[in-house]
Amino acid sequence: MSSEDVRLEDLPLREDLRGRSPYGAPQLDVPVRLNTNENPYPPPQALVDDVTEAVREAAAGLHRYPDRDAIALRQDLAAYLSGATGVPLTERNLWAANGSNEVLQQILQAFGGPGRSALGFEPSYSMHPIIAAGTRTDWVATPRRDDFTLDTEAAARIVAERRPDVVFVTSPNNPTGGSIPFDELELVLRAAPGIVVVDEAYAEFSSQRSAVELIEAYPAQLIVSRTMSKAFAFAGGRLGYLAAAPAVIDALQLVRLPYHLSVLTQAAARAALRHADETLASVAKLAAERERVVEGLLGLGFTPVPSDANFILFGRFADARASWQAYVDNGVLIRDVGIEGHLRVTVGTPEENDAFLAASKEVPR
Ligand code: PMP
Repeated sequence: MSSEDVRLEDLPLREDLRGRSPYGAPQLDVPVRLNTNENPYPPPQALVDDVTEAVREAAAGLHRYPDRDAIALRQDLAAYLSGATGVPLTERNLWAANGSNEVLQQILQAFGGPGRSALGFEPSYSMHPIIAAGTRTDWVATPRRDDFTLDTEAAARIVAERRPDVVFVTSPNNPTGGSIPFDELELVLRAAPGIVVVDEAYAEFSSQRSAVELIEAYPAQLIVSRTMSKAFAFAGGRLGYLAAAPAVIDALQLVRLPYHLSVLTQAAARAALRHADETLASVAKLAAERERVVEGLLGLGFTPVPSDANFILFGRFADARASWQAYVDNGVLIRDVGIEGHLRVTVGTPEENDAFLAASKEVPR
């Protein structure tokens, strides 16, 4: 028997992973790619040059392990996040990993796990239950309202009743786009017996106040996760981070792999952060384009869900899967997130958005 003959079913895989599907946003070679909520603007040349120079310097020390605690990078992230939220933070409040997915995994490794549970308000980010499964944390799926907003009072009641070890609140929520009003977040925090993770991957696109402002009031509970993958146009660099009380970071040190952030990642991320002002200038452009795309969709008779992020969930389609394929056939890759009658489009450059709106006239409804 050759290695090609062995199938997944033949392996002694954990029972609880049998029959599951991996995260699978299709990566297709299509002219207009609006499916994974990236920033469509490539990094400016000055940033590319600075990253190249930083990586060149770092390469001279590749025979040594990196700074295990990524102190300088965490200092830079603290400076950025303090500036963005007005909350004083130091590197002791910050933790970083290879994308916020890894940050979320470390959180569940430390605070979830066998015999524990995590609760999320669905539809929401599909990786939350996948990371729960990988860490053997029981997943408690709780529905949002039919219009995809979060009924915070009902949410607080369910949290008080189910007593999950970890609650995920995604704000702005992916794939639906809306934020939880800042004042309502405390209802969930007060009801939760354990950790509340506010996943703010798209925070830069939103005008809501950040949950970071509540860390001082809920230090043993609140973790705010963020990423450089979206507004920062650094998805390929893989850098996510969180803000929390220093004790939370002590807890994560128990589960993180040593040297998880390479010398190259740390150097590149620090260089990219030095250009935050230029990169984040795209946020206003994308917010304006979001409104234009929403108007365009309304004009075509679609129903877009109000969004505070760099993507729009919209409907209705009789067969979302067939319409998704029709978009691909028209050269536009968007996302079928598995919500009946709906598809999700990432806001792109004006040209990409024009191509998307043009394709929207062609696809079956
Ligand atoms: N949280 C949310 C809500 C997301 O949409 C994403 C990316 N799709 C992530 C976290 C993870 O992003 P990354 O690992 O690139 O930081």
